[in-house]
Amino acid sequence: MSKPVLVIGAGPVGLTMAAELARYGTSVRIIDRLPTRTTESRALAIWPRTLELLDAAGCADAFMATGLRANAVSIHAGNRVIARIPFGAIASPFSYLLMIPQSETERLLEEHLKTSGHTVERETELTDFVDRDDGVSCTLMHAGGRIETLEAAWLVGCDGAHSFVRGRLGLAFEGDTLPMGFVIADVHVTGLAIPPDEPAIFWHPDGAVMFFPIARGHYRIIADLGPVPLHMPDLGEMQAIVDRRGPGGVILSDPVWLSDFGVNERKVRDYRRGRVFLAGDAAHIHSPAGGQGMNMGMQDAFNLAWKLALVERQEAGPCLLNSYSIERSGVALQILSDSSRMTRIVLLGSHLAQRVRNFIVKQGFRIPLMRRAIASRLSGILIDYPDSPLNMGSARGLHGPGPGQRLIARQGSGQGNMPRFILAARDSAEARAIMARHASLLTPEMCLPPDENGIWLVRPDGYVAAVAKSKNWTVIDMALNRMAPKHRC
Ligand SMILES: Cc1cc2nc3c(=O)[nH]c(=O)nc-3n(C[C@H](O)[C@H](O)[C@H](O)COP(=O)(O)OP(=O)(O)OC[C@H]3O[C@@H](n4cnc5c(N)ncnc54)[C@H](O)[C@@H]3O)c2cc1C
Repeated sequence: MSKPVLVIGAGPVGLTMAAELARYGTSVRIIDRLPTRTTESRALAIWPRTLELLDAAGCADAFMATGLRANAVSIHAGNRVIARIPFGAIASPFSYLLMIPQSETERLLEEHLKTSGHTVERETELTDFVDRDDGVSCTLMHAGGRIETLEAAWLVGCDGAHSFVRGRLGLAFEGDTLPMGFVIADVHVTGLAIPPDEPAIFWHPDGAVMFFPIARGHYRIIADLGPVPLHMPDLGEMQAIVDRRGPGGVILSDPVWLSDFGVNERKVRDYRRGRVFLAGDAAHIHSPAGGQGMNMGMQDAFNLAWKLALVERQEAGPCLLNSYSIERSGVALQILSDSSRMTRIVLLGSHLAQRVRNFIVKQGFRIPLMRRAIASRLSGILIDYPDSPLNMGSARGLHGPGPGQRLIARQGSGQGNMPRFILAARDSAEARAIMARHASLLTPEMCLPPDENGIWLVRPDGYVAAVAKSKNWTVIDMALNRMAPKHRC
């Protein structure tokens, strides 16, 4: 029996990781030290790029049946709308934001994992590990104190912001803690005169208050408190903030969850050491502005799973795994910078600066191109891997995405139980020769290229690995050869 990949943590990232490995038939175990999954709603937003990947994984329908579709987000000052950003123009089959509590996301992912015959081993904690050349020797403590030693092929730490795996590897979590606190409440709301499926942000000289719909009449409310010590709010404090900063006439009742949080902006430099990987909050944390944290973590898992699966199936060499940290660390740097900028814009303290901000935002978002650019950026469809070592060729002179950029090659791309590359090219003898030579990496059917003068090699996760002008098959051949099991890194 082959050694399993051991996934630590059954949050949204660990569950995605385990489900994807299981989909590809890779031996996997997933453990969590807690007896049950979270009941807190925490991350609410699932963006289009994550939905595309969930669709490829075969579980987007369950998410759509459970979540609430938000078609736009609006920014207000008192009763004035400063900006409204619609999501309908996002170039994705999922052109909306799905609002769904993290507790539900975890439930759906766990149900999806069960369809492949896997369950989370709960009350099981990783207490130590040693990375050896041929595997990772892991010490697990089960409920009641029973100790198990497990020889894993690879260890993936999806164990959250206080990651034991990261600490044990001695990796620094570099970054800052912002000197400010936020309060949060999931409550019943009446009297809010905005479309019921639309997140709304209200800017006020004292700070912001944000309303995110969870279900009809139920909202997540977040407000910043400035540089005060963190403290748990009560309903009265939330109502007072909403009365002062909101549009007026809004009544809160029946709180389901009240909490506080501070903002950290941190990441590790390298997501991998030897046979051990980090993913999700274990590798990066940042401000919830923009609702990207969980999405980025789940996309880490989607990125790593197909690579590990190909290596474990011996259809690709271990060099493939070197691309994980480079690609995902680059994305985290970008998103940390975006969310940090958004947080600072929302939290401007000076009244003059706030007036200038409101003016610029109002004028800027009158321009349709600007609204579309921001919606696309938030949606995740612009995430790319310009520095990936897997990239080859160039799209110069062609109409279509370049190496490292996303290409939805065709309906249902990336589905199925084998991680396979797709060739997007016109049918030809050369194309068929490449298909025959790399049959273990390519899907048996080609699809139409974005430009008939070019050839695109598309990865299992929908990003372009190589592009070349028609007839320049050497580029595609070389890109596939570099993936071969015996290729030296
Ligand atoms: C108030 C709030 C609002 C947020 N809103 C958003 C949002 O709108 N959009 C968004 O994208 N993100 C949001 N986030 C961030 C989001 O919640 C996190 O990014 C997400 O939970 C990270 O998932 P994860 O699986 O990496 O880690 P976690 O969810 O933290 O899961 C880690 C798991 O590992 C387990 N574990 C830890 N150590 C061990 C061990 N040694 N052995 C076994 N198990 C272990 C833990 O028990 C836990 O279950 C929000 C966060 C907060 C706090």
